[in-house]
Amino acid sequence: MKKLIVQKFGGSSVANAERIQNVAKRVAGYKKDGHDLVVVVSALGDTTDELIKLANQISNDPPEREMDMLLSTGEQISVALLAMAIHKLGFKAISFTGAQVGIITDKNHTKARIIKINADRIRQALKENKIVIVAGFQGITIDENITTLGRGGSDLTAVALAKELNANECEIYTDVEGIYTTDPRIEPKAKKIKSITFDEMLEMASLGAQVMQPRSIEVAKKFNVPIHVRSSLSLKPGTMIVKEVKIMEDALITGVTLNKNEAKITICDVPDKPGVAARIFKELSNSGISVDMIVQNVSHTRKTDISFTVPKPDSSKTIRLAKKTARVIGCGEVLEDTNIARVSIVGVGMKSHRGVAAAMFETLAENKINIEMISTSDISISCIIQKKFAETAVRQIHKKFGLG
Ligand code: ADP
Ligand code: ASP
Ligand code: MG
Repeated sequence: MKKLIVQKFGGSSVANAERIQNVAKRVAGYKKDGHDLVVVVSALGDTTDELIKLANQISNDPPEREMDMLLSTGEQISVALLAMAIHKLGFKAISFTGAQVGIITDKNHTKARIIKINADRIRQALKENKIVIVAGFQGITIDENITTLGRGGSDLTAVALAKELNANECEIYTDVEGIYTTDPRIEPKAKKIKSITFDEMLEMASLGAQVMQPRSIEVAKKFNVPIHVRSSLSLKPGTMIVKEVKIMEDALITGVTLNKNEAKITICDVPDKPGVAARIFKELSNSGISVDMIVQNVSHTRKTDISFTVPKPDSSKTIRLAKKTARVIGCGEVLEDTNIARVSIVGVGMKSHRGVAAAMFETLAENKINIEMISTSDISISCIIQKKFAETAVRQIHKKFGLG
């Protein structure tokens, strides 16, 4: 049966000329088998990180519109090179930027949301028997400004195109063989998961499992787009991300995740009266900062400390705003700790089991790791700890729950 397959290749899969040629061969192989292909590509290797570094050498607060102009160039390089490599193999291919294939987004530069996709140009190129190569991670606003979709956004491009084109398959090719019980680079004993639900994957991705962008999973879940995550260097099947996984009884824990990309902010001596927290967090959300874990104690002294975490790139802006608000409402110091890490366990099984949190805390205690903050959802538990203990914590928790 002829299929329409959307494939996405991440940065490491196209890190150099040889790897690009390898991807070209793989894509051409599917074309030879008679399938239609839409291929989404990320920027080569660490290009995006390098462009960010470069921008930060020019300015510590570059305009976000210009950041998008800059970062979108990374993917434009890789699509052109991949199209050339496919041509070389004797197949027809055409590369497009996000704007050229009508990926229309809102104006929220650096983390824009897709509003709609006018995929006619892709459909036309497919009709002409071409392999279509699309730059991941980018779109355009209605007033024709280039936007990007947040880090890891090529995953989102792929899932959104798979939905829009009603593709038969959506494959995400990366540098590991699928989704593992934890990052296999931290714990080599981690096991590949055969299938995982959208809900668990969304939770793992949101809590730091870099392998899939959380927003791409949100979209996949909303439109029920099954995703196959697999390795660009092997032919082995990877992990299916699907609506439902039918097994007799859920495992206690599905995975352990680590996020070292948050900072902890503490506002000291906050007056303990109604409206104060609202004021602090409203100020932050108005500035586009999304706050995560929040801890506030009931005070006995009419003053209390509030701690919360934010993504590290938002930390200095947060400090600035928090200091301003703190002055106005009469709080004390504002402290920043960037040496923290969040270790989390994820699994639907914890809904029906007791003692999961206790087992996690016990493991940290046995390893003399202090817990600074705790938060839970119905399918996850997270602890903030000092960064230097992060990898040990992941490995020990992974072992405790028998995942290896
Ligand atoms: P790409 O460049 O293909 O988008 P990413 O670097 O974004 O790849 O994601 C792949 C990486 O995600 C892997 O190299 C691995 O280190 C990391 N990772 C973190 N958690 C997991 C997990 N649970 N399963 C698989 N990979 C994971
Ligand atoms: N190149 C972009 C990034 O590094 C998008 C992606 O790789 O998905 O975030
Ligand atoms: Mg990625």
